Amino acid sequence: MSISEQDGEKADVPLTIDPDIFTESHGIFRKTVRHFFETEADPYLEAWDEAHAIPRSFWRKAGDLGILGIGVPEEYGGPGGDFLDRVVMTQEMGYAISSASIGPAFQRDQMCEQLMDFGTEAQKKQWLPKMVKGECLLAFTVTEPDSGSDLSSIRTTAVRNGDHYVINGAKTYISGIADADLFLVACKTDPDAGSRGISVFLIERDAPGLRIGRVLKKMGCHASSNGELFFDNIRVPAENLFGPLNGGFKVLVKSLNRDRLMWSIISHAAATRAFDLTVEFVKDRKAFGQSVFDFQNTRFRLADMAAELAVGQAYIDRCLRTFIRQGEVDMMEATIAKLWLPEMEGRIVDQCVQLHGGAGYMDEYPVSRLFTAARLHRIFAGTAEIMRLQIGRAL
Ligand SMILES: Cc1cc2nc3c(=O)[nH]c(=O)nc-3n(C[C@H](O)[C@H](O)[C@H](O)COP(=O)(O)OP(=O)(O)OC[C@H]3O[C@@H](n4cnc5c(N)ncnc54)[C@H](O)[C@@H]3O)c2cc1C
Repeated sequence: MSISEQDGEKADVPLTIDPDIFTESHGIFRKTVRHFFETEADPYLEAWDEAHAIPRSFWRKAGDLGILGIGVPEEYGGPGGDFLDRVVMTQEMGYAISSASIGPAFQRDQMCEQLMDFGTEAQKKQWLPKMVKGECLLAFTVTEPDSGSDLSSIRTTAVRNGDHYVINGAKTYISGIADADLFLVACKTDPDAGSRGISVFLIERDAPGLRIGRVLKKMGCHASSNGELFFDNIRVPAENLFGPLNGGFKVLVKSLNRDRLMWSIISHAAATRAFDLTVEFVKDRKAFGQSVFDFQNTRFRLADMAAELAVGQAYIDRCLRTFIRQGEVDMMEATIAKLWLPEMEGRIVDQCVQLHGGAGYMDEYPVSRLFTAARLHRIFAGTAEIMRLQIGRAL
């Protein structure tokens, strides 16, 4: 964000692009991604929300453009690219109005990284080329009716039987349930060993005994389906074990730091979009013979938001600089980002709705969708309380 300090000069408030972090080629990629969401997602949002579905053609177009599976090398059909390309993609997805509805379904794209890290050669060859083309849609299934934040308490079991595992249990809230082709499923393979008894399996949608339950009605993010999944004596070939036996906890948390940072970036980008939309709205809206923008209250509130966004951006840039220096996201930085940025987003989007007046509550104004999506970001991918718990533990 660049805010001119000169009196009267127009503030310029786009997503900040720090030239010390992003190169010219990241800039070109950024334009491509922004154009893609503006033309291939934002205009269809209402229809997708009503249908509670994102059409398959959207994923295929994203795959054709090379914005799925960033980082997957060409030998697996991927577009290549580096971590900062993924950051660019994430920022632009977060800034798109459509992300307020399709965001959670995009978690499936982050799974490419796990497949690269833990998949066997056969699994990578079988699934990655289809995933990066948007032809195989993955769902990440950990949460159960009685277990969410406490991963070690999952009850779904996988029991070895000859060259198969037999899987029984249930999952819930799973994003992209309606159209997923493949499920990455966390199970207990040693029920008495807590987090050391978890293993992950790849299960195809048509596996006998796999049943999709209800698609759940929810507050927002309507296009991205969420729902229940049941496993009733599913026989899964042993080669579908994903990562080490009883090493599933490591598989699940390996990309956690990156995911936390990515969801923080989405929160910041979405808050920036809400802010931009609000500045535009209040300049246009008249009350008591003047524009809403000209009330001192409005300007003070916008100034507070601009300050929070600038501070948030500076923290994200710090996380990215650490990545550039160390080649990895720092765990504590990512945890702090995942605590603070979604809460900041919540404060900003709430104020943006307020400054829209009644319009802010109407879905035809995007800020309404941004509000309900923001509420999710404090829960999804690790709740704010779990972030506080982990930061507190490290003190
Ligand atoms: C829209 C949406 C999409 C989702 N998509 C997926 C998906 O694709 N795959 C998937 O596996 N899951 C998914 N989830 C589930 C999500 O990850 C969980 O809802 C989240 O991790 C919280 O778990 P929980 O709902 O069981 O809450 P709980 O763990 O029961 O927590 C309830 C409350 O207690 C707090 N709490 C828990 N433990 C502690 C503690 N030790 N100290 C203090 N407070 C604590 C929590 O922060 C929360 O406020 C999705 C959820 C939503 C809403």
